[in-house]
This record gives sequence, C-alpha cells and structure tokens, in this order.
Amino acid sequence: MKYNVIIIGAGPGGIFSAYELSRLQPELRVAVFESGHALHKRKCPIDGNKIKSCIGCKSCSIMSGFGGAGAFSDGKYNITNDFGGTLHEYIGKKQALDLMKYVDDINMAYGGAGTKLYSTAGTKFKTLCVQNDLHLLDASVRHLGTDINYVVLENLYNELKDKIDFYFDTPVVSVAATDGGYRIICEDREYECEKCIISVGRSGSKWMEKVCKEMNIPSKSNRVDIGVRVELPAEVFAHITDELYESKIVYRTPKYEDRVRTFCMNPRGAVVNENTGGIITVNGHSYEDPEKQTQNTNFALLVAKHFSEPFKDSNGYGESIARLSNMLGGGVIMQRFGDLIRGQRSTQSRIDEAFITPTLHATPGDLSLVLPKRILDGIIEMIYALDKIAPGTANDDTLLYGVEVKFYNMEVAVNEHLETAYQGLYVIGDGSGITHSLSHASASGVFVAREIARICRGNEGLCP
Ligand SMILES: Cc1cc2nc3c(=O)[nH]c(=O)nc-3n(C[C@H](O)[C@H](O)[C@H](O)COP(=O)(O)OP(=O)(O)OC[C@H]3O[C@@H](n4cnc5c(N)ncnc54)[C@H](O)[C@@H]3O)c2cc1C
Repeated sequence: MKYNVIIIGAGPGGIFSAYELSRLQPELRVAVFESGHALHKRKCPIDGNKIKSCIGCKSCSIMSGFGGAGAFSDGKYNITNDFGGTLHEYIGKKQALDLMKYVDDINMAYGGAGTKLYSTAGTKFKTLCVQNDLHLLDASVRHLGTDINYVVLENLYNELKDKIDFYFDTPVVSVAATDGGYRIICEDREYECEKCIISVGRSGSKWMEKVCKEMNIPSKSNRVDIGVRVELPAEVFAHITDELYESKIVYRTPKYEDRVRTFCMNPRGAVVNENTGGIITVNGHSYEDPEKQTQNTNFALLVAKHFSEPFKDSNGYGESIARLSNMLGGGVIMQRFGDLIRGQRSTQSRIDEAFITPTLHATPGDLSLVLPKRILDGIIEMIYALDKIAPGTANDDTLLYGVEVKFYNMEVAVNEHLETAYQGLYVIGDGSGITHSLSHASASGVFVAREIARICRGNEGLCP
C-alpha cells in the first residue's frame, strides 16, 4: 500500500494535519494509523461500581484512540505562547498564535460555536496576584468542556472519514527510511509513503525514543512536573474561575526558590485517574453541561524538575514517585490539607467527616511518605500563597490527591519546519517534546500540513 502521506497517531496533532491536508491538497492519498480505538469505541471500563480502578486495558481508552489524550479532556484550548509548549521557538510567535486561532475557528465550525472564550486581558486578578507575589500568565482560553470536545471530534471524524484512510487498533511498530520515502511497519503489514508525520503524543513517548535510537535522530531529555491535584469547594475559586475559567498562576517559593504553578483548572469538575503505561496518576475534568457539574473545583499544583547530568531520566524520576504512591495506596492517595500539616495520614472517617465530598474514589493516606520534601514544601507554601487571593484554599478540608505527574516527551531534534534530519519525516505534537497542550499540538499539525502542501504546490517531488 502506497500513500503520499502517512500520519502516525490520531490525537489533535494528527487530526489537524489530516484536516489541513485534505483541505489544501485533496488529491493526496493520506492515511492515519492509530494504536487505539475509533472514537465511538473508546470507553474506560471504570464505572465506579463494578470496576473502581484501572484494570490496565491493552489500549487505554483515556489516552489512545481517535482524539488522542485530548478526547475526554476538558477541552481547554489555551491560545498563548506563555505555556503549553515552545512551538513559537520553532515557527515564530505570531505564526504560532495565528495557527492556534485558526484551530479555534475550526473547532467553532465543527460544533464548538457558543462555547466561551475567556481572557486574562485587563483582568483585575493580575494586580491581586502580583500584590501577593503570585504571577498570572497571559492567555485566552476556549473552554469546550469534555462533552462539546467530544462532539467536535465526532464532527471532524465524519468530515475526514471518506477522504482519508483511518487504520484504528493498528500500532505502528517501526519506521524505516526507503529510497524516496518511508516504510511504516505495522504488526501484520507494511505501508509505504513519501512523507511521514509522527504525532504519537505522550502515550507514544517510549516508542518515539525507540524510533529516534533506530534512526539516529538526536533527542534530549525534557523536564517532568510533579505535584498534587487540589480539590476544594467551587465557591473558593469562583471569583477567579467565573471570570478567567483557567488561570495559570506561578509562585516562586521563599524556601528553595522553586517555581510552583497551578495547572489544568476544572471549575465544578471531577478528579479522575490517569493511566500512563500502567502507572496510575491523577488528573481532572470538567463539563460544559450544568447537569454534569459538581460542587467542587480542582486544579493541579506542580513543581518542574529537570535532570541532565549524570542522571538524565526526568520521566523515570517522576515514574518512580508515582509508583511509590501506587505501592502505598494501590492507586491514587488522597489526603486532607489539615492532616498533611499535622503530620497525620487521612483516614476514611476523617474524609467522611470533612465538609467536602471527594469526586474521585482514592485511598486516604499520607502524601508526605510519597513526595520528596522539597516538592511537598513548595506545594504547601503555594497553598498558603493562594489562600491570600482565594481564602479557603488552605482550609483543613481541602483535598490533595497524589501524585499528579506531567510527563514530557524528550525533545526530538527538528528544524524550523518541524522536520527531522530525514527529509519528509516530521515530528509534531506532544510526541516531539515541543508541545504539551491541545492548542499547540493542533497548531503544529496544521503547520506541517501547510509545509507539505507548499512542497506539493512547488512540485518538489510529491506524487500526484
Ligand atoms: C485527562 C487529560 C486532560 C487534559 N486536558 C487538557 C486540557 O484541558 N487542555 C490542554 O491543552 N491539554 C490537555 N491535556 C493534554 C492534551 O490532551 C495533549 O496535550 C494533546 O492531546 C496532545 O496531542 P497529540 O496529538 O500531540 O498527542 P495525543 O493526544 O497523545 O495523541 C497521540 C495518539 O497517538 C497514538 N499512538 C501512540 N503511539 C502510536 C503508535 N506507535 N502507532 C500508532 N498510534 C500511536 C496514541 O494512541 C494517541 O491516540 C489533557 C490530557 C489528559 C490525559
């Protein structure tokens, strides 16, 4: 089977590459290979009753399948160069922002119309934050919500399914350079293409490392973010979330001068498990539909760690900490802030007596046995700092779930076209280590599709 372009991975990066290619060069033969299921078949078996925790499916429906890791995410598209990736370092700030806005337009055209776009521009919270030594990062945030995000993906798939060959449940085993293109090797068949776009996301990080080794593509270690997910009554943060929805607030801790930041805020949302290669960590969701909303708001507090010499494996460090929490708690550990400060583990009865109902079934325990002191101290200092702009954050009953780990793929060496040293082999999205968000990953997909279309128009050797 010969294609002009093969895309590996059907997350936002791969989908937006496919979308833009089909729009600009409909004559190209394009295929998408995805190790996970088609969208309608993606279903996590955890139902809270019969199956309460992760059973380690062969393909994790939360992380894999059409829509990628973003499919059941909160659908917060942050339009900014301040966080979510470093795409702008490769393609320029203006182009990166323009592409993120373009992605937003497509999302609106495919079911997102009517959802809210929040902005930090001119907000009074910036001043309030600075007055308390906290720093609010600039962004516009489109909040699709988990439900509308799904509708947009459904509509995009319906748009693409007759124009592009989708191979679901088909992991690519390896990629090999051929004369004038690439051989894409799957478990039971091989395919040829002239251009290949790799967009395998976080779940494909080990695979990406293997491909880089096999093809001698340089890569370098990236950071890992470690912390907890905080859950509190929605009222505590309502004055901020009602205006900004998502606020990325950074704090430099007095003790170690480490930076702690808020991440992935889910007003009236739910805390959820996340499975990364069998390791259970924590994450959060929220819904646009008021029927599905909860009484609580959750967000992550994360500290970045980057190892380079002699130990390079930042992700391995994060994994070990997450494994430790899984060993002690059988999964995610939950602790009241008051218990943590008093040096006592949370018990089910202490959780039951609290004035907040947890949205995730987790094991009451002691996070100080899991998180390194430096990270835990930073988190505690940040909670007290946030209490000044959102009183109630440092309440005894505030719940901390651990651990939350944000793994970053190692950074793959690509040029300003997001192309590796191999001509026509592009690496985009979170799999490249360059992006770590829906909007940046999607924008990188559009960017590369336009690069290929430009080459095509210039008749620089692409088939038809
Ligand atoms: C629970 C959760 C909530 C999130 N919420 C947000 C949010 O609100 N806002 C935000 O900006 N970001 C959020 N994120 C992060 C966001 O989902 C990712 O940044 C984004 O999905 C990255 O897109 P991608 O296309 O690069 O990779 P992915 O979405 O990870 O897609 C990669 C795809 O490649 C497939 N794949 C991997 N290896 C292979 C292989 N060898 N062969 C074939 N296919 C393969 C995978 O199955 C996957 O479907 C969230 C993530 C999670 C898990």
